[in-house]
Amino acid sequence: MRTYGSLIGNKEINTISSSTFSTINPKTNTKIDNQFIEASLEEVKKATDLARKALFPFSKSQKKSAFLKRIAEKLENNRNDLIESYCLESGLPENRGNIELNRTIYQLQSFSKLIENENWEVTQHSPANETRTPTRKPELTKKRLPIGVVAVFGASNFPFAYSTVGGDTAAAFSAGCPVIVKCHPFHAETSCLVARLVKEAIQELDLPEGTFSHLLASDYLIGEALIKDANISAVGFTGSIKGGLALQKITQNRPVPIPVFAEMGSQNPIFILESIFNQKTSESLSKKLIASITQNSGQFCTKPGVIFIPQCENGSQLINELKKLIHEQEIEAMLHPNIHLNFKNLTELIAKQKNINQTISVKYSELDNQGRGLLTEMNFDTYINNPIFRQEVFGPHCFIVKYQDENQLNDFIKKTEGQLTISIFYDNISSSINESFLFECEQKAGRIIFNGVPTGVEVDAAMQHGGPFPSSSDSRFTAVGTDSIDRFTRKITFQK
Ligand code: NAP
Repeated sequence: MRTYGSLIGNKEINTISSSTFSTINPKTNTKIDNQFIEASLEEVKKATDLARKALFPFSKSQKKSAFLKRIAEKLENNRNDLIESYCLESGLPENRGNIELNRTIYQLQSFSKLIENENWEVTQHSPANETRTPTRKPELTKKRLPIGVVAVFGASNFPFAYSTVGGDTAAAFSAGCPVIVKCHPFHAETSCLVARLVKEAIQELDLPEGTFSHLLASDYLIGEALIKDANISAVGFTGSIKGGLALQKITQNRPVPIPVFAEMGSQNPIFILESIFNQKTSESLSKKLIASITQNSGQFCTKPGVIFIPQCENGSQLINELKKLIHEQEIEAMLHPNIHLNFKNLTELIAKQKNINQTISVKYSELDNQGRGLLTEMNFDTYINNPIFRQEVFGPHCFIVKYQDENQLNDFIKKTEGQLTISIFYDNISSSINESFLFECEQKAGRIIFNGVPTGVEVDAAMQHGGPFPSSSDSRFTAVGTDSIDRFTRKITFQK
């Protein structure tokens, strides 16, 4: 049995003075034989004090770019151990672990490259005009400053890419902010292994010890104490709407409120317009759609949660193909028992609603943590009139909604909440999308995908991952791509 403790600055707390917790192998639903020492409130305070002390030297350090590069190298050099722990604690397959680790390494490398060029800090420069009358025009330089110490809460479904040293942490480090991570308790070993690599990089580059701390906690108390602490200036969160809103409420009630950049859940509607059948067969469409619904047990924030299909012969054929495929789908274990329980409860509630027809994957086993592939079919009026159908179901489930004409899609889009993504399938050669419909889609989404599925978020400077509320707490910012650095900076003008 291995014992892990929180990392407070460069020190790992190894004495068991409080209780411990364990992680679970979701495939077997059994405890993994490791123990994690719960952080104490004193340790939270120590971590935030150290981080505040590190703010000045870390933000001014010339080694930040090298630091990110070094962490990326260490992740690569420790790939085998990291993947082993990742698969054991998350139940996700090895190839997905490797893809996610590659993505995490790439994120660190791209931030490293961004900040190599110090000009990234300067957003505007306006020269002086000594001869302007009646008054001289001053020289103005507007620069980005690190926002301060950042607290990061990772998501269970991305133990590498949206966790310990995932997108939020990489963006905050690049901006010059020390980071304190509240580890996700369901992948605590994976998180501790990554945290130790960050610590090694800090020591090798002789960076201030408060640059990074890692808190182990299995309940909300530590996370709440962390974001109430006066030394914390911003929060990065990836998780459920409920979790994001709870953190936001706490930070708004502080004597000095601070921003929470929360990336939350979304239904990610897909609109199948009738014209698409000029280009694509229902068979090829259905394969793409089912893969996007069920991949890794549907545990993606961008999983399509509702597909609108026209009531016509091609539409009916597409629905039949989808039903056939969901039957055949092998479904993986879900990430942890709580996620599975939420999925089970919500899908059971959906099953009790009127005027629906459900198709269930027959290829799932009765193992406790397995999410079964599920399609819930209904007509447009049933969907639009029942709020139970308009929420995210995190897991391999999708609502299939039959619509009669595109006016109904207009009605839906005006009523729907903010979404991370909206996808539109249509014949892009001989037809176009109604301009006002597209405009309404733009009002509700962070990303619009034409003739493609929403899963698979490209890490790129041009990516917007974050849509109107409640999919994100602030739709002006992205959580993916180097632009996400903007969340952890604020602007200041120097006038001469
Ligand atoms: P979660 O239950 O919200 O947990 C995320 C983290 O927040 C955990 O560390 C959790 O602590 C903490 N937390 C949640 N509620 C809290 C509260 N009231 N007070 C203090 N801490 C709190 O989410 P999850 O189950 O890990 O992830 C699944 C959800 O994340 C889905 O809804 C999915 O759509 C969303 N997600 C969104 C994105 C995106 O980019 N938009 C990406 C991935 C996932 P504990 O672990 O101690 O409970």
